[in-house]
Amino acid sequence: MPFASLGLSPELARAVADKGYREPSPIQSQAIPAILAGKDVMAAAQTGTGKTAGFTLPMLQNLTRGQRARSNRARALVLTPTRELAAQVAESVEAYGRNLPLRSVVVFGGVSVNPQMQALRRGADVLVATPGRLLDLYSQNAIKFDDLELLVLDEADRMLDMGFIRDIRKILALLPSKRQNLLFSATFSGEIRELARGLLNAPVEVDVSPRNSTARTVTQVLHPVDKGRKPALVSQLIRDNNWHQVLIFTRTKHGANRLAQKLERDGIQAAAIHGNKSQGARTKALAGFKDGTVQALVATDIAARGLDIHQLPQVVNFDLPQVAEDYVHRIGRTGRAGADGQAISLVCAEESKLLQAIEKLIQKPIERVELPGYQPQEAVPESRPPKGGYGAPAKPKKPKKPKPGAPEGRQSDNDGDKAPAKPSQRRNPRRKPSGNAPRKDRPQGGQAPRGEGRSEGQPNRRRRRPSRAGTARSGDKS
Ligand code: AMP
Repeated sequence: MPFASLGLSPELARAVADKGYREPSPIQSQAIPAILAGKDVMAAAQTGTGKTAGFTLPMLQNLTRGQRARSNRARALVLTPTRELAAQVAESVEAYGRNLPLRSVVVFGGVSVNPQMQALRRGADVLVATPGRLLDLYSQNAIKFDDLELLVLDEADRMLDMGFIRDIRKILALLPSKRQNLLFSATFSGEIRELARGLLNAPVEVDVSPRNSTARTVTQVLHPVDKGRKPALVSQLIRDNNWHQVLIFTRTKHGANRLAQKLERDGIQAAAIHGNKSQGARTKALAGFKDGTVQALVATDIAARGLDIHQLPQVVNFDLPQVAEDYVHRIGRTGRAGADGQAISLVCAEESKLLQAIEKLIQKPIERVELPGYQPQEAVPESRPPKGGYGAPAKPKKPKKPKPGAPEGRQSDNDGDKAPAKPSQRRNPRRKPSGNAPRKDRPQGGQAPRGEGRSEGQPNRRRRRPSRAGTARSGDKS
């Protein structure tokens, strides 16, 4: 089915053809007509499904109909959880909108606010933003929302995980009530559904990725190995297999740095990407990885989230993620847009519980391959299959008795997929509930405080001051 048959204008169909896309992906063929018809949309889709074009193309087409943006106003707002994702969405907006007279601006923290204020002065038909920086700009009168026609929440699940819910609610309260809303999320947890209920008006639901299933084109293998031997094994795998582009996940920023240094020492071009790296360093590492000068990119989950690396052949989990859903996100980097990919996990004995949680989530055991010379001294126990075996339908939970005084209907907020995360299961289990890290340690974009061995994903519960560091990057198109 060609793109034009979805109702896209010749300008957009041309831009898509220039990108080399031959036909719409499933999310695109379902979401584009609904968005063009002005409907609210709630879409379950992870990175790699073509979701960005799924909302950007019809959004741009809808915007061509109205008046161009006025000074310090945005007509469409795309909120993303991370700077990288904001930059990538903005790139897509630029690419797909190249034949249209629309102006786009991107704003995110960690870089100077002044150029962003200047860019907003000329108005933005599309504004791509991370929540904290957007609120900063609003408080400085750099942006007003009275002309807003359309809102997109991209990777809404990740925004909630990163503690952006209060910022999002603040932003929603500033928007005109008559507008089109699009919500994209890898999963629909109870929390997401609750957010959607207050946000979307009779939404069209689009679900192209069966929840928690992993991309079918990805081969998954795990190598049991002792913890201390993991760096040597990664290095050897890269050399033996002659991998030219491998994304390696570590749990901590310190671990990412250490591994990148070790690989460099072994003669492998490597770079680390995480929240303590400056925006410039991250952009450079990503550009190097894309153009082939960086062979191995070592990343933490937050830094890697939303990275648009086309058809990545190889992903390595150096550490298993603390949260099982992240495994699905991680390996979603590979086997994209129909290409085959391979995801390898190095698993040591102390990670067996994490492995069990992952195998339960993906509903299958991951194939184990012991490598000669790396057999672990400390065995990695086999995961116990869930009761009834993998793929057995989940037993319906008994409804809990409501607590006296609890608001009615709360229990139905859970969609039955998984219980709402307890604080200890949230993305950063080490975070103190009060989130009282010093201000300067919590740069915009949900990055964790600096510190050795600390996981990323620090929720951003309080307002931030604009950062003084770095240079601005606004996608000022005209
Ligand atoms: P996304 O899920 O938005 O991160 O997109 C994943 C990747 O698929 C991006 O690199 C897009 O450029 C690419 N892509 C998006 N739509 C299509 C399509 N219809 N055909 C081929 N590739 C696509």
